[in-house]
Amino acid sequence: MSLELSHEQFMRYSRHLLMDDIGEAGQQKLSQARVLIVGLGGLGCPVALYLAAAGVGHLSLCDADVVELSNLQRQILYRETDCDLYKVECAERELRALNPHISVSSHAAEITDELIGNQDIVVDCTDNLAARQLMNSACHKNKIGFVSASALGWEGQLVAFDFATHGRLCLNCIIDRDSPEPLQNCSNSGVVGPVLGAMGSLQATTVIRMVLGYFQQHGEMQRYDGKAGRWLSLAASAKTGCGVCTL
Ligand SMILES: [Zn+2]
Repeated sequence: MSLELSHEQFMRYSRHLLMDDIGEAGQQKLSQARVLIVGLGGLGCPVALYLAAAGVGHLSLCDADVVELSNLQRQILYRETDCDLYKVECAERELRALNPHISVSSHAAEITDELIGNQDIVVDCTDNLAARQLMNSACHKNKIGFVSASALGWEGQLVAFDFATHGRLCLNCIIDRDSPEPLQNCSNSGVVGPVLGAMGSLQATTVIRMVLGYFQQHGEMQRYDGKAGRWLSLAASAKTGCGVCTL
């Protein structure tokens, strides 16, 4: 596979190009990837920064919120002067400054099916179940990757689905869409900033693995207990009669 890298790009991506299992072919795959990041909060900030830095070529950002002072404890894309501005606009500015070789598009709105239709991978960095279920259904329907994470207090979890190659087992098998919204969230119960950073880094790594063809943990849950300093992996299985992935 040919790749016409400028001298500047050779320098920029040299730590990928040095790796046999990324190299120029892998960098080209990254440059062609279309990734939608939904939620530009504590998870979305590190996801967006790492994917932009890695040269993921087409990033779309979706978040309807503006920056608030209480976000700055963990949402590392924003500065105090960004308060009251749309998160996606501030994020786009920072990502363009970090890497002008990629395209970034912003949507200061709630997530819709239409936004998901032309992506390769959707990264769920939201904190609400309804949006998460919408993304799960749309990613399953469009046979694309779905990388979902959440965090609360000291704990985080991640689960990812490669719907391009797996028809069964989806987020709805694990968290039923009729479940109520959890009573606890970051707004009323708090969260440790770097725990979001750890989970966001894991989401970005998972996206890169999917793009390069190294992802093989469809539906496996990764849990992180930041207070105990421990990771845990849990296998899941498809639910009989799941309303999303049962054909
Ligand atoms: Zn399912």
